[in-house]
Amino acid sequence: MEFQYQANPTPLAEADRAKVLADPGFGQYFTDHMVTIEWTADVEGQNKAFEAGEYLNMVGDWSDARVEPFGPLSLSPAAAVLHYAQEIFEGLKAYRHDDGSVWTFRPYKNAARMNRSAHRMAMPQLPEEAFVKALEELMARDGAWVPNGEGQSLYLRPFMIATEEFLGVRPARNFNFHVIASPAGNYFGGELKPVSIWVSRDFARAGEGGTGAAKFGGNYAASLAAQLQGASRGHDQVIFLDRSPEDSLEELGGMNVFFVTKDNKLITPKLTGTILEGITRDSILQLGKDEGLDVQERSITFNEWKDGVASGDIQEVFACGTAAVITPIGQVADLEEVHTTPSTDFPVANTLRNRLVGIQTGHEEDIYGWMHRLA
Ligand SMILES: *Cc1c(COP(=O)(O)O)cnc(C)c1O
Repeated sequence: MEFQYQANPTPLAEADRAKVLADPGFGQYFTDHMVTIEWTADVEGQNKAFEAGEYLNMVGDWSDARVEPFGPLSLSPAAAVLHYAQEIFEGLKAYRHDDGSVWTFRPYKNAARMNRSAHRMAMPQLPEEAFVKALEELMARDGAWVPNGEGQSLYLRPFMIATEEFLGVRPARNFNFHVIASPAGNYFGGELKPVSIWVSRDFARAGEGGTGAAKFGGNYAASLAAQLQGASRGHDQVIFLDRSPEDSLEELGGMNVFFVTKDNKLITPKLTGTILEGITRDSILQLGKDEGLDVQERSITFNEWKDGVASGDIQEVFACGTAAVITPIGQVADLEEVHTTPSTDFPVANTLRNRLVGIQTGHEEDIYGWMHRLA
C-alpha cells in the first residue's frame, strides 16, 4: 500500500511543541498529521460471499492511503457510525530510545486484534502490514513528537469508523481507518500509587455473546455509568463481574486484572469471550513465567479475592494495560465493605513493570522480538 503525503501547512512551532512535550498529560494534544485510509465495499463480491455462507466476509477495497494534516473529519450527519456505532479502535505507544530511534511494542498483535474486533462488528479487515505501515508513515512525519522524558511516550490511536451516509440497519459500505497520535506523560509521576477499586454491582460492561472481547467504543460508553458511580464514592476505577451466581471477575473498564499469591502464583481471569485480550496481559503472563511464577489463567471469583486478601493468601492485586502499564490495586470496595490488599510495596508488580518498561524503552534485552522500529 502506497501512502500519499499532504504536509500540514501550519505545523506547531518547535518551541510550542517543546512546551507540550514538557508536560503532555494524556490525550489532550495531537501531532501535526494523521493517517487516513478509505474502504469501499464491493457489493457484488459481498453478495457472492454472503450467498456462499461467508456472511461476515466484508469484501471491498482499501484506497487513498495518506498522511494528511490533523484536523476535523467531514462526515454526513447520517454517517452510520453516528447512529449504529460501528467503531473500533486500538491503542499502542511509540517510545524514543536513547539513540533517538522510535519503537513500538508488538504492533502486529494490535493489528490482529483490530481485525478480530472488525470481524465481531461486521467491519472490514485491514491487512496487518497496512496497519503497521500506517504507524511507520505517521512516525516518518511526526517522529519529533515522541518525547524522551522518563515514562513519556507518544500514544498511537488507530481507529475505524462507518462513514456511509445511510440510516438503514446493515453493515456500512464505506469505512475510514485513521491513526492519530497524542504525547503522553508519566502516568504515575514516577511512582506506583495504589488505586482504590469499586465493584460494579448495578452495571455490566459486557455479556455472553456480546462485544466485550472487541475493542469497541460502545463498551467504553457502557462502562461510564459504573465509573461515575464508583468515582462518586471516591474510587479511582471499577471492576466488572460476569454477573453469574459465582461472581467471576472480568476486568476493569480498560485494563485487565492480576493477582499474586503468597506461594508465587500469578493469576488472571481466563479469556471467556467477554474479556478484552490485552497485549499487556499477554506480555505479563510471559514475563511472569520468566520470573519463575506459577502462571494461571482461570476463573477467579470475587469471594476468592475477598477471602484471599483477608487471609493473606493473595498478596498483590494489580491492573494492566497499555496506557498505565501496571497499576497496583490497594483496595476494593463492595458497597460499604472494603477489602485491603496486604502488600503496600507491590514487589512483584514492580518487578514485572520494570521488566516490561525496560524492554519498551530499550534498556532491557528484547529476547522475544517484541519491539518494532517505526522511525
Ligand atoms: C485496551 C483494553 C485493555 C488493555 O489492552 P492492552 O492491549 O494491554 O492495552 C484491557 N481491557 C479493555 C476493556 C481494553 O479496551
